[in-house]
Amino acid sequence: MFVPVSKPLLGKEETALVNDAMKRGEISGLSGSYLQKFEETFAKFCSVKHAVAVSNGTAALHLALAVLNIGKGDEVLVGTFTNMATFLAVIYQGAKPVPIDSEPRTWNLDPKLLESKITKKTKAIIVIHIYGHPVDMDPVLAIAKKHNLYVIEDAAEAHGALYKGKKVGSLGDIGCFSFYGNKIITSGEGGMITTNDQALADRSRLLKTFAYGKENRFMHQDIGYNYRMTNVTAAIGVAQMGKVNEVIQKKRTMAKYYLRAFKNIPEIQLPVEEPYAFNVYWMFSIVLRGRLSGKRKEFMAELKKRGVDTREHFIPYNQQEIFIRRRMVKKNACPVANDFSKDGLYLPSGPDISKKELDYVSKQVAAVVEAITSK
Ligand SMILES: *Cc1c(COP(=O)(O)O)cnc(C)c1O
Repeated sequence: MFVPVSKPLLGKEETALVNDAMKRGEISGLSGSYLQKFEETFAKFCSVKHAVAVSNGTAALHLALAVLNIGKGDEVLVGTFTNMATFLAVIYQGAKPVPIDSEPRTWNLDPKLLESKITKKTKAIIVIHIYGHPVDMDPVLAIAKKHNLYVIEDAAEAHGALYKGKKVGSLGDIGCFSFYGNKIITSGEGGMITTNDQALADRSRLLKTFAYGKENRFMHQDIGYNYRMTNVTAAIGVAQMGKVNEVIQKKRTMAKYYLRAFKNIPEIQLPVEEPYAFNVYWMFSIVLRGRLSGKRKEFMAELKKRGVDTREHFIPYNQQEIFIRRRMVKKNACPVANDFSKDGLYLPSGPDISKKELDYVSKQVAAVVEAITSK
């Protein structure tokens, strides 16, 4: 038995729509019926007015900062515990990212820490809905309003997650999604910008395709990018939208199974679902505590031997040597994130994981906990 951390749920629907796009010869990204359909269905799914398809989640984040004119001399507050793509996007724009430490339970940025980091240069806050659990948005939005800051949601791991009943990606000025192979739904590679602001949507469309001219296409209106999604990619996305709610249900069933299986193991800190949250459990993430703390390497290797694939937690921005070396941040800047990330990992969490596999993984985890703690 080998259980991978994640495998996308692909079926004949994806193949059929890709073949159809091919047959029509609609393979590029300037136009195409699947692009339009993917954007329309995704906007509706997120309860926003506009969705703009782009080449990947990192491009969505970069474009979001570009359309908000955030650049040199500006500071952006960013949750330190994330996929580094969130920070790289800020750096691509020449702006300065300021890391915000995490809450110990949700691992999301701690809104209580935001205000002390605001300066005259601060322009925006990027929240990341980590592992599918929404950030506590009300305090974030209140601080943003008070200090006149933009709010960008990195929802790359949280398609369909709800904050007080509202979809993530609809709560700030711009939402950014990814459709990489292991995300809630996938188009292979892909991304989406969501917004209720017509001007921001228009500017995203302009910049994602070289800011082509209106009269003469080749007299460019601005310094744009090629961040287009192809229509073939969008065809996969449209097929995936047909099963997004099913995938979310499967993720929640998976989480419920693991939560029950591990509830009596004090050495395992489990993911939470705060009262304001509907968690989509992108990945079932745990932290090794007590007698297991500092034993992540052994724990993962032992599980690997038993055919259970796992992955370490993200390494926070403040621990990345490429940034410490450049004196952009200090290693001890975010003690909470440092504490849980060093002993965090996620278990197999794919949308097509079977009951049998869940049972197998749970038993192996319990056995490995027992083996390590009884040494
Ligand atoms: C995956 C991910 C991204 C990057 O998306 P890509 O499509 O891989 O570029 C950005 N932020 C977070 C939180 C992610 O998990």
